[in-house]
Amino acid sequence: MSLALRDLRSKSLLPGTSACPGCPENMAMRMVGMALGNDVVMVVVAGCSSVIQGIGPKNAYGYPVLNIAFAAGSAAASGMWRALRQRNKDTTVVVWAGDGGTADIGFASLSGAAERNENFIYLCVDNEAYMNSGGQRSGSTPHGAVTSTTPEGKKENKKELLFLMLDHHIPYVATASVGYPHDLIDKLRRAKNIEGFRYIQVLTPDPYGWLFDPSRTAEVAKLAVQTCYWPLIEVSHDKVTVSNESLHCLKKETRRPLRDFTSLQGRYKRLSEQDFQELEKYVDYLWDRISKLMD
Ligand code: SF4
Repeated sequence: MSLALRDLRSKSLLPGTSACPGCPENMAMRMVGMALGNDVVMVVVAGCSSVIQGIGPKNAYGYPVLNIAFAAGSAAASGMWRALRQRNKDTTVVVWAGDGGTADIGFASLSGAAERNENFIYLCVDNEAYMNSGGQRSGSTPHGAVTSTTPEGKKENKKELLFLMLDHHIPYVATASVGYPHDLIDKLRRAKNIEGFRYIQVLTPDPYGWLFDPSRTAEVAKLAVQTCYWPLIEVSHDKVTVSNESLHCLKKETRRPLRDFTSLQGRYKRLSEQDFQELEKYVDYLWDRISKLMD
């Protein structure tokens, strides 16, 4: 039976956050509540969400929250789950981290916890730069994107966390986008029922860093998927599933033009023809590797 999103309302996000209008992180936080319910503890790695939630005791997140430094999210969650197990509690432990806290500064503790197959869900909310501290490039920023530290456009490609995490042989790895709430909610629900380390990377297009109108967050999040820049994929105990919304990406001929995604965003204002081709090559590479996973 399919459910309307309004039937899934939860108290994961209370009114009065200090997020910018059109914030994709708030969208994702609502979906987490819809999927996981209220028996959750949240380890929030430094980033916009550390600020959005407000100042205690009037926290806008409907969960107990441990705010933690960039490098320590996975280490803290490992201890948190062990402490809950000692008390026979079945609470879901979730790490909520941005791309900087995942791909760069937090990667050591993330990799260590994944290798130990610690029992929590790691959510990377990927807005492809350090948005909370001024929009600096991260390892997850794509080629050609202008950030406050790459004023001419980044010269390197995005670090591909999807494949890095698959190489840790954990039970569950998935990607999702806030443009497709049902897909994200379904993945979170499946992840909740799996034991061990679960990694989900959610695309959260940021109107302020990506330079598009805040009313268009969901549209940009959808276009990323439709143009195959962002895959919707799940690997659960080695079973690879590409979501229906991404199936057309498996063949180059059926992909929507990448320009439909890049042209809406000011961060690509310096994109040369050569840079654009580099981005297209990245998309080809991504889907070649996903196709090979499915063989
Ligand atoms: S900078 Fe981006 S992620 Fe941070 S609060 Fe604003 S919209 Fe949300």
